[in-house]
Amino acid sequence: MSEKFIEFIKRILQKTVLPLRKKSDEILRKFYLSIAFRIAFYYVRLFIIFGVVFFVIVYGVYVELEVSRYNRYADNIVNTLKGGQAVIQENLSGEAQEEAALDELSMYRKRAYKESINPYEQKGITIRIRKGTDGPVVYSDIEDDAEEDRQLFNMLSYNYKDNQKVLIKKRRTYELAGTTYQVYLQFDITDSINNLHNFLLFLILLYFVLVLLVAKFGQRGIERLLQPLKNMSATANRLTVNNLHSERLNVAGTKNELKELAGTMNSMLDRIELSYESQKQFVSDASHELRTPIAVIQGYANMLARWGMNDKEVLEESVEAITNEAKSMKDLVEKLLFLSRHDKKTLHLERKLFNMKDVVEEMVRETKMVVENRSITTPVLQNVIVYGDQQALKQAVRIFIDNAVKYSENGDSIKISCRNEEGTCIVTVEDTGIGMKKEDMNKIFERFYRADNVRNGGVEGQGLGLSIAKLIVLNHTGTIKVRSQFTKGSSFSIILPDYYRKGFVK
Ligand code: ADP
Repeated sequence: MSEKFIEFIKRILQKTVLPLRKKSDEILRKFYLSIAFRIAFYYVRLFIIFGVVFFVIVYGVYVELEVSRYNRYADNIVNTLKGGQAVIQENLSGEAQEEAALDELSMYRKRAYKESINPYEQKGITIRIRKGTDGPVVYSDIEDDAEEDRQLFNMLSYNYKDNQKVLIKKRRTYELAGTTYQVYLQFDITDSINNLHNFLLFLILLYFVLVLLVAKFGQRGIERLLQPLKNMSATANRLTVNNLHSERLNVAGTKNELKELAGTMNSMLDRIELSYESQKQFVSDASHELRTPIAVIQGYANMLARWGMNDKEVLEESVEAITNEAKSMKDLVEKLLFLSRHDKKTLHLERKLFNMKDVVEEMVRETKMVVENRSITTPVLQNVIVYGDQQALKQAVRIFIDNAVKYSENGDSIKISCRNEEGTCIVTVEDTGIGMKKEDMNKIFERFYRADNVRNGGVEGQGLGLSIAKLIVLNHTGTIKVRSQFTKGSSFSIILPDYYRKGFVK
């Protein structure tokens, strides 16, 4: 039953409150209403709802207290009536008894009023006495002979017909000398209830003024609290790539959610700035690297245009130089493309299981074919199964081997090994070449970074190889270990985890 009732109430609310709320949302959406105003409005609404509940409760409690107070009065009055009537009856008998009782009633009533009721509360109490429950009226001072209210004896009754009186009605019975009497009492509480109404009205007005004042001053306070939002919006409006490094949101003052937001936005701006700067650097470095081969090609083309056509030597030299530069440009562009694909997250790796030993062996064979004057050895070559993109990992190992060749001299030795350490694959390329200084070792994986001695030493390169190798290895959840001693040599190791144990391959 109660569940059905709750369901019913829910359905009614859904049908009335929800559409109303939707409609009001639709209307409100058309206006620009500040958050401060909305918060203030929200609280005013709450104040009004709770205010109404509060006043209804106050009113109810008052009425309840009044009604129970008059219950006590009624009992007292009836007792006194009964006592007074009994005294009279003791001194009379028979028919006369009844007559006297009737005659004396107004006296009893006076006594009753005087003795049993607080003299200040006497006003407005009227009674009617019946003999038996439905018998004749033996006494009544209720002015108009109004219908007795038989049910609602415990509530207020607003009797507006009768000069707007507010009455509390009570019924009592008592027995005397074998006869039942019924007393019907009316307490006129019009004055007291009017006082209460006036007082409540005054309180309600005062309450409304208070609510309006709270809303007004509260809105100001909220606006002050939300000021950081306005500042943020203004700062965000001013932001361009040119002032990205100088404009930051103010995070001074007490900590709160808005300051936290400002802090978060600042670190976001830091990251954007860093990424923007590195992109800018990348573009500038890439253009710089492309400028050299283009200038060389342009130079030879000019030379050809002037003398080359007829001079066979110049022609041959130019064609060779242009071919070389074109190749190095193609090389560079391919590397740039690889890095940009990675940055755009469109780098696609085709993973499969393969034996790294075969790949390393193949590369050693290829290197030995093209490189002379280096002693290339393979101290350890163990079978180790790797799950990854074979071409990409081959490219990474090739970068290390090419560097070992580039950064070593005639007669130096290069050791290439492939080890299987409990499933972990370690490919190491070790050379006895020029080595690196400590400060260079921290930077060699940055794009376009080249050690000064290398840059000035005339060794060709663009400083992109290690960045690419690092990306490939990281994409295979691997790591790179570097050891180097300046002028003594370097060793680079690619460490790829056991993909079976890591759960990549089941
Ligand atoms: P590049 O070789 O085209 O300059 P890399 O990214 O491959 O670019 O290498 C970056 C830098 O790291 C090199 O310029 C060099 O200074 C240093 N480096 C890399 N490998 C070695 C090595 N085997 N020995 C000494 N220095 C090396």
